[in-house]
Amino acid sequence: MTVSAPSVGDRAAVDFASLLSTRASRMNASAIREILKITQQPDVISFAGGLPAPELFPLEDVRRAADTVLTKYGPSALQYSTTEGHLPLREWIANRAGITPGHVQIVTGSQQGLDLLGKILINEGDVVLVEAPTYLGALQSFQPYGPQYVEVPTDEHGIDTDALEGVLRANQAKFLYAIPNFQNPTGRTLSLERRRRLLELTAQYGVLVLEDDPYGKLRFTGEELPNLYELGLEMVGGDPDRNHVIYSSSFSKTLVPGLRDAWVQAAKPIIEKLVQAKQGADLHTPTLNQMIIAELVEDVLPRQIKTVKQAYGVRARDMVARIREFLPAEVEHTTPEGGMFLWMTLPGEIDTQPLLAQAVERKVAFVPGSPFYALGGGHNTMRLSYSSATPTQIETGIRALGETIRAAME
Ligand code: PMP
Repeated sequence: MTVSAPSVGDRAAVDFASLLSTRASRMNASAIREILKITQQPDVISFAGGLPAPELFPLEDVRRAADTVLTKYGPSALQYSTTEGHLPLREWIANRAGITPGHVQIVTGSQQGLDLLGKILINEGDVVLVEAPTYLGALQSFQPYGPQYVEVPTDEHGIDTDALEGVLRANQAKFLYAIPNFQNPTGRTLSLERRRRLLELTAQYGVLVLEDDPYGKLRFTGEELPNLYELGLEMVGGDPDRNHVIYSSSFSKTLVPGLRDAWVQAAKPIIEKLVQAKQGADLHTPTLNQMIIAELVEDVLPRQIKTVKQAYGVRARDMVARIREFLPAEVEHTTPEGGMFLWMTLPGEIDTQPLLAQAVERKVAFVPGSPFYALGGGHNTMRLSYSSATPTQIETGIRALGETIRAAME
């Protein structure tokens, strides 16, 4: 086909929209980001954002580590480095997981891990199983690759594994995306019994599990549970190349999010593809950032985890107490054992999208739950974050939320 060039005089304005790829047309602005814009008025108490508490960041430790690293490594701290990631950091991760550094890929935030995994796993039309509700950012990452989502029902113990069996039988799925610990958005935790059942079922049907675990270390109450990756490894006699679980975690919630350091653990064939995908995406995660994190993992990280857990535990208990005090009894809420979020279900006639505007008038904000459902629904749900709220904000904000909900129920 030949295309004749328009003469300079009648050059049409470029129609950018028509030139965008099909992939681009599947992308849309995060519903949460749009919502956050209206909640970011200075006098509004916002439980909407999911930000780690900035006053807890180990500022001085990061400053010291940056200095140490620049002295220790010199110019190589500022040089290009390997796509797989800074070896001492990969070794530290691998040792803790009982695997080799060859099974660990450093990524620029676990968000990048989700995107790259979507890129190497999802063909257009592939069935991807997701929790209902699930992490909105994962839906955003997978969406451009054209998955067909099938939702797996959840209850207070996480994924309903009886329902999962039916879903697996009815669909030829590629992978199950799961957040077993203190899930974003609900704060729920998958029980041990269900973890085992989930692994048996997915293995039986030849379906991969993508375990997203940024919050696992932030348990402030109850007993620590083995993650799916560990249980998956156990099932195959400790051979990481036969584990059907791909594990993703991050330093964002335990240390700081701004350095954008996270990792993926998986069988070699997955890691090898991930390396190639990452090369095309950003060559490697910033060298200096990885070195700083590696400097902090031994001493600062455990101390920091203790501090953060303690603070979030106090805030979560406080928020739950205020919910019981100020919210109508008809409102159901989760009681998280860790992490940063809790979830509320309002009486069915209330739609939390229009409710948000009324709440903002009363100077409090939340995230409506609907965007967290891959297939829609959940119009009467909302997510609240307690991670960066003070006691006064919790008291005033939940009281205002109670007034807003009561007014809507009248
Ligand atoms: N997964 C989940 C479940 C999350 O909640 C988040 C952050 N909100 C991420 C992944 C991304 O985290 P990061 O890119 O900072 O590691």
